[in-house]
This record gives sequence, structure tokens and C-alpha cells, in this order.
Amino acid sequence: MDLVESAADHEFRLEARDWLQHNRPAESLPSPDASREAFEANRAWERVLFEAGWAAVSWPVEYGGRGLGLWEWMIFEEEYFAAGLGPRAAQNGMFLLAPSLFEFGTEAQKAALLPRIAGVEDMWAQGWSEPEAGSDLAGVRVNARRDDAAGGWRVNGQKTWSTRAPFCNRLFALVRTDPESTRHHGLSYLLIDLEAPGVTVRPVRKLGDQIGFGEIFFDDVFVSDADVLGEVGQGWKVAMATTGSERGLILRSPGRFLASAQRLVDLCRKTPDASAAQRRDVTEAWIRAQAYRYGGMKTMTRIAEGGSIGAESSINKVFWSEMDVRAHEIALDLLAERAEIDTDWWHGFITSMATPIFAGTNEIQRNIVAERVLGMPRSGR
Ligand SMILES: Cc1cc2nc3c(=O)[nH]c(=O)nc-3n(C[C@H](O)[C@H](O)[C@H](O)COP(=O)(O)OP(=O)(O)OC[C@H]3O[C@@H](n4cnc5c(N)ncnc54)[C@H](O)[C@@H]3O)c2cc1C
Repeated sequence: MDLVESAADHEFRLEARDWLQHNRPAESLPSPDASREAFEANRAWERVLFEAGWAAVSWPVEYGGRGLGLWEWMIFEEEYFAAGLGPRAAQNGMFLLAPSLFEFGTEAQKAALLPRIAGVEDMWAQGWSEPEAGSDLAGVRVNARRDDAAGGWRVNGQKTWSTRAPFCNRLFALVRTDPESTRHHGLSYLLIDLEAPGVTVRPVRKLGDQIGFGEIFFDDVFVSDADVLGEVGQGWKVAMATTGSERGLILRSPGRFLASAQRLVDLCRKTPDASAAQRRDVTEAWIRAQAYRYGGMKTMTRIAEGGSIGAESSINKVFWSEMDVRAHEIALDLLAERAEIDTDWWHGFITSMATPIFAGTNEIQRNIVAERVLGMPRSGR
């Protein structure tokens, strides 16, 4: 791992910075989760990104990418968030499904789906959680029954807590395809059309008033064999790869946290009466973001050399979520009575409160780290 940016990487950074400065939307975009209009505004911008070849920096050109590597992608992410841009509407497709498509997809699936993800034609939601299966994901009950005559599966049941599902047209979901199976066995990873007959998506309003969140009901929904990712019955393995991207570095690259720490420093500079303790808090938040970046570079080196992040993605998840919550607490402390009228930090704070819950709660991540990284015994044994 080389901590000094090469001349070529630096040139790439300046090229990205220049393009973003000249092409980013003049007005800041609202969160894509806020409303259908906000989602579509983000999507239109992400289409501009795609047309200029910046949507998927590290993907091969034939799939809609720029044909560069993970380092360049990480640099682009830093510049993207530093330019004041937020998480993408297409992030589930780009950063969760696509890495699993590259790993487990057939050539036909990759050719059909990846360009549509990069070009924001398909917008993907994630269908893991169910009313009785959250932390205990292996308790999935949504089932798919074989339909040999039609060459596919009939899906029934309910998913819940699906981010942006009310605005998306597709869903990657973990469902039970073997009715006799239990736990991690007999599950498959299906790519479901949310506009197919039998699908009902009901929005659920979040605390921050956003309606890009929802529950999904399936009533004999047809999914063809071509839309099974990985082997039938091996869905757990594929889903854990997707989850590794969610907890690890791919969805949460350092860029967004570096930008947030920098905003915090700027806020502190504009707060002349900040106490010594508040300035120390801000400094610590900034150092945490830098530490996350260097940790990320180490992981990226390992991935680039053919390794994987594995259960260590759980350490990453605890780190980024607690860092995010803390940064927002510090900002609200600095803002004091102005906190509730500063909509950016206030909404950010509300959103940050969910980070220790989604992508698997931090209690569960700590269990994983204890058992699978540190090799400690399971409780009760
Ligand atoms: C903003 C937001 C967005 C989300 N987006 C999506 C999405 O797009 N797609 C999707 O599928 N899901 C999504 N989720 C759901 C999320 O993955 C679940 O909420 C999470 O996995 C927890 O499941 P649960 O809500 O059923 O809580 P439960 O599993 O019921 O847990 C309740 C509490 O018990 C604790 N707990 C449970 N089991 C243990 C244990 N063994 N040891 C210690 N503590 C334990 C948990 O940590 C938690 O504090 C989202 C959630 C939020 C809040």
C-alpha cells in the first residue's frame, strides 16, 4: 500500500474535480429518499454522470463503466462527496447488486443488467428484511414455488423496510425456494420486477418525513429462471457477498465521511464561541474520518490483490455508523439552539440515527466480530 498518491492518480483526481465543478447541479439535490420528485431529480443527474462516463469508474467499458480500477473509483468518490453531492439514488444497484452480479452472474445476466444499472434505467431496491426476519435473516419466509410450465418461480409473502422500494422498478431479494428447508439452506437470490402483476408496494413514512421506504407484498408473482442470481438453493452465499459490500467499503467508501468531517471543521470555524472541548470533539471526528480512509486503503489493497474483506466488513460497519452518529451529535452541539433550523445537519442527524440499525444492527455486527473474527465462543455454550 502506497500512501502517497502517484502522479497519474493525482492527475485523475484533478480531472474528476474539474468535471464535477463544471457539471454538478447548480442547486444541491434533495435526498433521493425524500419523495418521487427528489428521486427523479437525482436520477436525472446520475444519468448525466453516466453519459459522461463517470457513473461506474471501475467497471469495464462494455458494461457502462470507465474501465479503470478500484483506486480511481475511491478517488472519484472522494471528489464526488467533496463537491457537495450526496449518496446516489442508484446506489443499491451500483454498489450492492453489481458486485454480486460480477461475482455470480452469468454472461447473459451481466450483459443485460449492468448497463441498465449504470445508465439508471433500472433502479434497484433490496429485499432482505421481513416482519419476522430482520437480525435473524435466515428466518426468511417469503417463498417461491416452482412453476415448471412457465420456466420459473411463483413468489408469495411480504418483505419490509425496503429503502426507495416505492420508487424503484426492481428488487433483489432472498426467498425460500425449498419449502422443506430451514435456516440458511434452500434460499435463492431472485431478481424481481416490482412492476409485475401481483406486486404491491406500500410506502412507509420515516421519522425525517421521507416516503422512499416501504413494504412489499407478493401474490403469486412470476420470476423467470433467467432471474435467479447464482445457483438455486445457494442464495445465502450470494446474499452474504452483497451484504459484505453493504457493510464494507463499496457502499460506504471513505469519501462521504471525509466530506462530512470537513463540513464539521467548517462549521466549527464559523462558530467563534466553540469551547475547547467542542474543538477537541471536532478534531477527533476529523481524525476518525482519516483513520477510516487509511483503513479503507489497506482493505482496497487486499481486494486489489485478490483477497476479500469477509467478516471484517462487520468491523467496518460498526466504525462507519458510529462515526456518522458522532459527527452529527458534535454538529448539533456546536449549533446549539440553531440545530433544528439547520436542515442539513438536522436531517443528517435523524438519518444517522438509523445507521446502527440498517445493514444489520451493530449488536449483531459485534456478535459476528466476536465469533468469526476473534474466534470467541457463542454465548450460552
Ligand atoms: C433506515 C433503514 C433502512 C433499511 N433499509 C432496508 C432495505 O433496503 N432492505 C432491507 O431488506 N432491510 C432494510 N432495513 C431493515 C434492517 O436491515 C433491519 O431493521 C435490521 O436488520 C434489524 O432487524 P429488525 O428491524 O427486524 O430488528 P430485530 O431483529 O427485531 O432487532 C431488535 C433489536 O434486538 C437486537 N437483537 C436481535 N437479535 C440479537 C442478538 N442475537 N444479539 C444481540 N442483539 C440482538 C437488535 O440489535 C435490535 O437492537 C432498513 C432499516 C432501516 C432502519
